[in-house]
Parts: sequence; C-alpha cells; structure tokens
Amino acid sequence: MRSFLHPKLINGPFDDPGLFIPLFFENRALMFDLGDISPLSPRDILKTSHAFVTHTHMDHFAGFDRMLRLFLGRDKELHLYGPEGFLKNIEGKLAGYTWNLVDNFKYCFSIRATEVHPDHLLVNSYFCHDKFLPAHAPEKTAFSGKLLEEPALTVSAVILDHNLPCLGFSIKERFHINIIKEQLERLGLETGPWLRQFKQALYDHYDPDSEFEVICKKKDTARKFVLGELARQIALITPGQKVSYIADVVYSKSNAEKIIALVKNSDHLFIETAFLEKHRDTALQKHHLTAAQAGTLAGQAGVKQLTPFHFSPRYIGQEDLLYSEVMAALKKTL
Ligand SMILES: [Zn+2]
Ligand SMILES: [Zn+2]
Repeated sequence: MRSFLHPKLINGPFDDPGLFIPLFFENRALMFDLGDISPLSPRDILKTSHAFVTHTHMDHFAGFDRMLRLFLGRDKELHLYGPEGFLKNIEGKLAGYTWNLVDNFKYCFSIRATEVHPDHLLVNSYFCHDKFLPAHAPEKTAFSGKLLEEPALTVSAVILDHNLPCLGFSIKERFHINIIKEQLERLGLETGPWLRQFKQALYDHYDPDSEFEVICKKKDTARKFVLGELARQIALITPGQKVSYIADVVYSKSNAEKIIALVKNSDHLFIETAFLEKHRDTALQKHHLTAAQAGTLAGQAGVKQLTPFHFSPRYIGQEDLLYSEVMAALKKTL
C-alpha cells in the first residue's frame, strides 16, 4: 500500500525535534515544528506549504529564520500554526530585521499565521511588501479541533500542557488512490497531468457517472470515460493513513486523555521520550514524558507504528535504553 504521506524526522533523536512530511504526487510538504531544519535541503524546505509549531521554545522554533530567509523574494504564501502567543512571537521575529528595500522585490512573499486557543483561532497575515507588518487586527474564527481541511487530508490539533499551552497534531488522509500501471497500459493510456485531475476528481467526490476526459499528450489523443468506471479499472482505493506528532508534554491525566483521543489508531505516532522512567521526577519537573509513559500512551491509543524522539542529552550512548523502555511499555498494553 502506498501512502500519500511520507513522514521523516528532520534530525536525530538527540537533536531538535521536527517532522517533515512530503506529500506524494504534490511536490509539496507539511512540517511539524521548526527547530534546526538545516539537514533539509533548500528545495525541500521550499516545498513546505504549512508548518505546525507545537510551542515556541527555541528547539521547536529557531528554524523560522532559516525558512524566512529561503522564502523571501519568492511568490509564495506560507501558512504557520502555533499556540497562544504565536502571533506575537512571529511579529517579534519579523521585527528583528530591517525591511527598507523589500518594496523592490518582484514577488511578495507572505505569511498567514494562525494562533490556536481552546475555542477560537486568531489569524493574521504578513506581507513582504508591507515590511511584514500585521495586515490588520487578528481575525477571530471558531475552532473545533481542525486546523486544515483539504480534499485529501485533514490536520487536527489539541492544546496540551507543557507548563504552557503546547499543541499536539494529527494528520489524516481521507483515503489514498494508487494507480495500477498494468491497467493503464492495458487500456493504452499514458501517465500525465490527467492523473492528478483524475485523483482530484475522486477526492472531490465527483459524480461517478460523470464524464472524464483523458488527454494523452504524446499520442495527441483525448478519450472520454465514465469516471466511476475508469476508477474501477485503474485505481486501487485504500483507507488513508493517520500520522500523529506529540512533543513536549507533561504526563498528566488531562494530557493523557487528550493525546489518546487525538492519536487513536494512528498508523504512525512520533512522540517525545525525553527521559527514562527511573528519572520520572525530573521528567515531571521539566514537563516532559518518560519513555514508559510515551509507550503506554501509544499502546492505549492503538498506535500501529511508534517512533520515539527528543531524547535528553544525558542519555547519549544509552539510547538503546530509551528505545527498549518505550517498546516494552507499548507491548505491555497489547
Ligand atoms: Zn523541546
Ligand atoms: Zn519545550
């Protein structure tokens, strides 16, 4: 089964947290957390359309500058999401530079930022040609758990506690569509941009009885099909993947309940495991999880694959202990 989502941690488990998710067939990516993003190529960073920041501790937000540097001067809009205080954090970052020459730029890069509160969102825009000043007073809209809804995917968030509001995220594909190459060949169809339109028509729930035209450029032909019939012949439609990302949370009843509800049945959970269970008191004091707590949460949520990360540097050389503790806790709940 080929998923639309291909998540990968940006750094090693002892380095800054962050997840990069290229979207298959879209030449676009999503990012969770913006710590050190230097291992990503400029090309990959520029694919990012939406970045979701758990909280603005430096290890989760210092990469904003790198991103801004690369996007500046380009004809792009970058969507950013973060917790309470996020708009001020962004405005502070943008105010740290001098923008006297940006009116000369041909393209007007812009940032659209969303700050998440328990029952509402505050949204503002920042345009390069306006020296990145806030475009207006923040717009207030309702928040019911979803930050992004596209035909192919949804990103949900919950507000967790890390001695400050910290967001947990989950991305869910609606479903994914695999094209059966042999069937294309059998029908004498070549691959091309029409496949993207075809998939989009399925994601948008077009009437299966509607007509769909396949334009083959090489052969210079246009053939008409019934959409549903074509889908039955060339597409394998499978349930969407769910990928979740939890970083920097204290273990508490309220956090545990919210995390389990958010990440329930995830195909892949990325979760911080800062400390070993024997250092549980330190974890509590620093508002982080232990490996055992992370594994238990994953197990209780019925997660299929688990990747722990954000290890405390005190365990350098002992990472096996963290991996084995988290996996043991996961197995215990099965
Ligand atoms: Zn952190
Ligand atoms: Zn933190």
